[in-house]
Amino acid sequence: MAVASEPYTEKTDEQRAITEMVRQFVDERVLPIAEEHDHEDKFPEAVVSQMKELGLFGVTIPEEYGGMGLDLTTYAMIVEELSRGWISVSGIVNTHFIGSYLLMKFGTGEQRERFLPLMANGDVRAAFSLSEPGLGSDVQAISTRAKRDSEDWVINGTKMWVTNGLMSGLVFLLAKSDPDATPPYKGMTCFITEKEPGAAVNEGAFTGLSVPPKIKKMGYKGVESTELVYEDYRCPAQNVLGGEEDGLNRGFGQMMDALEVGRVNVAARGVGIAQRALELALRYSQERKTFGKQIADHQAIQFKLADMATKVEAARLLTLKAARLKDAGQRSDLEAGMAKLFASEIGKEVVEDAFRIHGGYGYSKEYEIERLYRDAPLLLIGEGTSEIQRMVIGKKLLQRHKT
Ligand SMILES: Cc1cc2nc3c(=O)[nH]c(=O)nc-3n(C[C@H](O)[C@H](O)[C@H](O)COP(=O)(O)OP(=O)(O)OC[C@H]3O[C@@H](n4cnc5c(N)ncnc54)[C@H](O)[C@@H]3O)c2cc1C
Repeated sequence: MAVASEPYTEKTDEQRAITEMVRQFVDERVLPIAEEHDHEDKFPEAVVSQMKELGLFGVTIPEEYGGMGLDLTTYAMIVEELSRGWISVSGIVNTHFIGSYLLMKFGTGEQRERFLPLMANGDVRAAFSLSEPGLGSDVQAISTRAKRDSEDWVINGTKMWVTNGLMSGLVFLLAKSDPDATPPYKGMTCFITEKEPGAAVNEGAFTGLSVPPKIKKMGYKGVESTELVYEDYRCPAQNVLGGEEDGLNRGFGQMMDALEVGRVNVAARGVGIAQRALELALRYSQERKTFGKQIADHQAIQFKLADMATKVEAARLLTLKAARLKDAGQRSDLEAGMAKLFASEIGKEVVEDAFRIHGGYGYSKEYEIERLYRDAPLLLIGEGTSEIQRMVIGKKLLQRHKT
């Protein structure tokens, strides 16, 4: 349904081939199992195995480490397709993608050699952890503490809302390494904390890290969100992202940089879920009849469909523009914020319109739109709420237009 001649949405032959492959995978493997897994809040093990085979965990990881070496734009196109099927599936890839971005941009040679090949094939997957029980937006208020002891950093604290908290093997964790720093962000470090995937209580080298039972959520089921409890967990100094010389007390900036690409990723998820809602609404409105004609023939429904399709297309353009600017090495902080804000908001609006078009059936668990209605609001929250996006956009706008 994308307009192929538009410069931002135009795809190369490679992008077309890969997105068609992912769309087929989603139609054949994800959509048929999404409802059952959502209703039972079950991890989609088989889908993840197939994603590994397709190389989807290594899309942006360079070929020398076993990945596909593709750019952010292609990644965003893939994420749109995955989210069209089920946003939980894109959630399994999302924090992993952010972790690999951090390693590629800030990791030492040794860190890249060690982790990227395992991450490229999805054998080791990554989580990304800033939030704590007492804060999400106000990242500078974190209290998780890391203290140097012999060759290790000893970490204590509780993290909250960690997507892939149980199944991941690596957690890119922000902790306070210098509690006296002012402002506080100057005393924060990103630690690559290793763990046993699937273990609630870690042992051996990873003793001191435990994963409480997953948080029960209204949507975004299947992929687990957990707390992570660090109690005297020993992280080797070599796992400071970027090494102690370059990485110590630089964690805040590294994580904020990663959130910028993360925002393009969330925007792509908004486009994907809205695209699916539009498809469901187009189908249902041509099946359902009221007052002697299909509801698609009532102008009020056509106007809704028109607004929905326009929003989807506009969100796609903003998302791909932000991705293409980043790939071209240009500033994209403002554009990534705009894309995330707009695509997540229209994601929710388009899903709600599709829900209304389904009438009473939209409220039934027999219909896919019911799941989308519970899933869409997550995108308003994750990687910065809409209020935080507006703060970012406002600040960047004023920086660029200083009088
Ligand atoms: C399912 C799920 C998965 C998540 N996954 C992860 C993850 O993998 N890793 C991770 O680190 N975090 C994760 N999060 C946490 C998420 O990033 C935070 O929930 C989010 O940043 C908001 O933080 P908060 O919930 O603490 O809300 P708060 O920061 O307490 O905000 C509450 C309200 O106040 C508003 N607000 C806050 N400050 C301001 C301000 N200055 N001006 C105006 N309004 C303001 C907010 O917009 C919001 O409406 C996840 C959350 C969910 C729900």
